[in-house]
Amino acid sequence: MNIFLKSKILISACLLGKRVRYDGIVKYYDFSSLDNYELIACCPEVDGGLPIPRFPSEIQVNGKVLNVNGLDVTDEFNYGANIALKLVLNENIKVAILKSKSPSCSNKMVYDGTFSGVLMRGVGVTMKVLEENGIKVFDENEIEEALAYLSVLK
Ligand code: SF4
Repeated sequence: MNIFLKSKILISACLLGKRVRYDGIVKYYDFSSLDNYELIACCPEVDGGLPIPRFPSEIQVNGKVLNVNGLDVTDEFNYGANIALKLVLNENIKVAILKSKSPSCSNKMVYDGTFSGVLMRGVGVTMKVLEENGIKVFDENEIEEALAYLSVLK
């Protein structure tokens, strides 16, 4: 039996090349520096019941999430966030690496709700729920920071 279990990291499924993005495009990232960790993938928007592909959504000033056609998808975003939270609690995960600029996953910048490509400071719906529950969230450009944080946790 292998007693050296790998620490787990929650990671946005789209960062692992899964076809879950709103536009249906698959993108690949090199996360070989995370080989010593078990990566647990989740996509809160798909877990919340939204299709692939789907219309892009942005968080509004009132906190609701609307897609570009004005459809209110707040419930789906919240549902997916709670699935991610249950996953980290069940798997005893302390760290997440989530996709930047996403209305679900971003840890620092989101689009401003006008669908005009303008970013502003803010966090995604899932990121907020995870952070409120003590999970440390990094984005795909902060792998070194995530590794440094994980090394202190060990
Ligand atoms: S950024 Fe988050 S919600 Fe969007 S496709 Fe990736 S995992 Fe899913």
